[in-house]
Amino acid sequence: MARLRCPKCGTEMNLHAEKLVHPENAAEAGRVDVALGGLLQETHACPGCGNIESRRL
Ligand SMILES: [Zn+2]
Repeated sequence: MARLRCPKCGTEMNLHAEKLVHPENAAEAGRVDVALGGLLQETHACPGCGNIESRRL
């Protein structure tokens, strides 16, 4: 799994949590994991500055 770099300070971020979310638009609906019944959203936390970033897979 690719690591994210913090957009604020450039430190590699730690994967903090994954959760299942429902698609919010047609583009996301097209990427739904049928086995899971939704999309995975990752939350990453920066150990350097405490920044939190979320992304949907
Ligand atoms: Zn940071």
